[in-house]
Amino acid sequence: MIVSHAHLDHTGRLPILIKEGFHNKIYTHNATVDLCKIMLVDSGYIHEKEAIWENKKRERKGLKLIEPLYTTEEATATLQYFKGLNYDEEIEICQGVKLTLRDAGHIIGSAIVELNLNENNVSKKVVFSGDLGHKNAPILRDPFKVKYADLVIMESTYGDRLHRSWQESWQEIGDIIANAKNSKGNILIPAFTVGRTQELLYEFKQHFEQWHLDDWQIFLDSPMGIKATNVYAKHSDVYDKKSINVKDIFDLSNLHMSETTEYSMKINQITSGAIIIAGSGMCTGGRIKHHFKHNIWRKNAHVLIVGFQAKGTLGRALVDGCKNIKLWGEKIQVNATIHTVGGFSAHADQQGLLDWYRGFDNKPPVILVHGEEGAMEVLSQKLKHQDKVNVVQATYKQNITI
Ligand SMILES: [Zn+2]
Repeated sequence: MIVSHAHLDHTGRLPILIKEGFHNKIYTHNATVDLCKIMLVDSGYIHEKEAIWENKKRERKGLKLIEPLYTTEEATATLQYFKGLNYDEEIEICQGVKLTLRDAGHIIGSAIVELNLNENNVSKKVVFSGDLGHKNAPILRDPFKVKYADLVIMESTYGDRLHRSWQESWQEIGDIIANAKNSKGNILIPAFTVGRTQELLYEFKQHFEQWHLDDWQIFLDSPMGIKATNVYAKHSDVYDKKSINVKDIFDLSNLHMSETTEYSMKINQITSGAIIIAGSGMCTGGRIKHHFKHNIWRKNAHVLIVGFQAKGTLGRALVDGCKNIKLWGEKIQVNATIHTVGGFSAHADQQGLLDWYRGFDNKPPVILVHGEEGAMEVLSQKLKHQDKVNVVQATYKQNITI
């Protein structure tokens, strides 16, 4: 088993694999191992909670009870199979199969997977992009460009879109913070705990004076966010050395790490001058909902949306301008100013994907994965017409012979 990075859409089913009898190594980057220790165990906990909640309903209806997809214990049992690697380190994982991970620049530890296969003295090289990072992102390096492959398996999440520049987006955040100071309210930032939270803290440090952040108290109110930040701090060896020369990139004099529920409740009492970063990223759960309850009805409060909000989520409703939200059965007016700042993405956009592919000298055939149909189709057309490449759009359970 080879894992490109820690996001749950890539790792969330590993405990099931172990449960079903796979007892072999799981190869991935060292930082991914550290993130999985947090994220998989948390995922097991959520599955347990959800099963308990569902079973309460089922019991009342006299229906058969369900088991959680996996438990905390099963998630923990998965961790022993991880074998952490560094980037650019070649390892023979079984006879005739050599593996090298390259930096994908998507989240910390994210990897492009290079496989050198040898069978009957015939060698083939397969490269799997994993999720590719967004060029010039804070903290991490740009995706590594591989020069040669016989086959490329490539993500296509934003195959049909271009992102706005990082610089414009950060500028907008700086302006919002500066203006919010006059209204004397709090700023609430729902943020994904892995990646976006660390990018925010890093940019806060970079722009500390320019954005007058010393006028604020900054709270990272997320146990997961704090743990993920520690993983980022631990693996400073993979930072983009060009843009980072400070050692402790999250060290802000007015940053408070809020781990306990008691501390989080104390933050609820602050009515002015707090910047609160909390999960979940799409406001579907987590502590951000409590902060909404205490702030979103205030005219002088601000909500800063810095991540993708899927349809049907509370975050999306706010972006779409809803006037009321319902929290724990209570209807609450939305009087706060909602700011949506686009341009933040951990994924390469269409140009980023094309640039990465064009790093190959030999125009290898491509299999597109990890994208919605529309995005995949647009990227496929670009590659076929501009690069004259053989492209396959992967379908579920498809087998490919190399
Ligand atoms: Zn990802």
